[in-house]
Amino acid sequence: MDNEKTCSSEIIETFKSRESHICIKSGNLSLPECDTPGIPGTVTQRTCVFGGARIVLMPITDALHLVHGPIGCASCTWDIRGSKSSDSKLYKQGCSSDLTESDIIFGGERKLYDSIIELNKLHDPGAIFVYATCVSGVIGDDISAVCKKAEEVTGSRVIPVQSEGFQDHNKTKGHWIGCDALIDNLIGTGNLEDETPFDINIVGEFNVAGDLWGVKPLLEFLGIRIISAITGDSKVEDIAKAHNAKLNIVQCQKSSNYLAKKMEKKFNIPSLKVNFFGIDSTINSITEIVEFFNDNKMKEKAQVLIENGLKNLDEKLKTYRSRLKGKTVALYVGGNKAWSLVRAFEELGMEVIMSGTKNGIKEDYENIRDVVKEGTLIVDDANSTELMKLLKKYKPNLLISGAKEKYIALKLGVAFCDFNHDRISAFAGFKGFLEFAKEVDAAVSTNVWKVAKKPFKTICKI
Ligand code: SF4
Repeated sequence: MDNEKTCSSEIIETFKSRESHICIKSGNLSLPECDTPGIPGTVTQRTCVFGGARIVLMPITDALHLVHGPIGCASCTWDIRGSKSSDSKLYKQGCSSDLTESDIIFGGERKLYDSIIELNKLHDPGAIFVYATCVSGVIGDDISAVCKKAEEVTGSRVIPVQSEGFQDHNKTKGHWIGCDALIDNLIGTGNLEDETPFDINIVGEFNVAGDLWGVKPLLEFLGIRIISAITGDSKVEDIAKAHNAKLNIVQCQKSSNYLAKKMEKKFNIPSLKVNFFGIDSTINSITEIVEFFNDNKMKEKAQVLIENGLKNLDEKLKTYRSRLKGKTVALYVGGNKAWSLVRAFEELGMEVIMSGTKNGIKEDYENIRDVVKEGTLIVDDANSTELMKLLKKYKPNLLISGAKEKYIALKLGVAFCDFNHDRISAFAGFKGFLEFAKEVDAAVSTNVWKVAKKPFKTICKI
């Protein structure tokens, strides 16, 4: 990484050691420094490795998630994603072994074992995922041994997740640990009785706000059967059968490319990277899936599907586009969205002037660099003060981010849209794009910005 040539201390004033984490795209060398621990004096907004694992597994609808640690680890990550379910709501329960002082001294294995037995009796879950946290790791509780014993006694699936928070500064490692729990303990253990030639899994689709339900009908129209979405709106037994798929399509490449590669190695399932956010991306994803199966009937259906999807879309988008044309956007989102949304905004006539993420690794920033225009800011792990300075200096019309950044933007007079785990509107597929345009337009074009032209002075002084 050659940051010397591309990262400038002129962008905003910040700590010396943070300057190289913010850069401006200029040719191929434009990558910010990334994937490093937070520095003393700045507060990083990242979650921990345990949170990274929890976020991957939490959407499995009929599973219980038991956090083996003090209550705080569980409460901070309870209902961490707005993943929807068409059936069981068991995954919405928050469970913790609630380790306290005496457990730290005498060990927490007995308490964990009793908790598993009781939860199994109360809820008869599809599986219980048991998460290691920093505290259970430090006191040396053997969660794998406890899970094994509990599994023998209950006859239910009890799956250990070795996700001690201190393992890394980046939650990406937690995503991989969550994927490991699935590949080591679940995928490959179920039987599929009626195979079809067009069985697939959607890997890295978490059904946030119901995104999966915008993609599923498109694939089903083509004659494709989804064995499991990993992990959105799936039950434990769906995922257990995932090894029978002919293809994995990978939506969130940041969290789940790792799993797709492992499934390719273990079960010989090829994978395709897809993106159902935006019109071109949806068409390209459909086209690539159809090319993979190389089936004439499916090709004909794809043509109809795309024509129907595009029908009247331009007409319906006209008003939004007329209001949004030339407006600027700053993205500060999870790794995958930091590059996969860029084209979607261009399709609305908007310009992405900044893209950044809190937990990006080098590969994520390469993806961002490859899709953004010259002169775009690329930002790694900006703290609140840095983000505020960037918004003040570059004055985007819209910030796309999560709940933590919402009020920073609004108080600066910058429109805000949530595109994180807790958003309430589904944006995937053709219909989702229309919803996306509507929400972006509502945020940017509201009359409130005419009234509140000046941002609050107190916050701008910082
Ligand atoms: S104690 Fe460790 S596992 Fe729990 S939330 Fe904090 S960093 Fe994560």
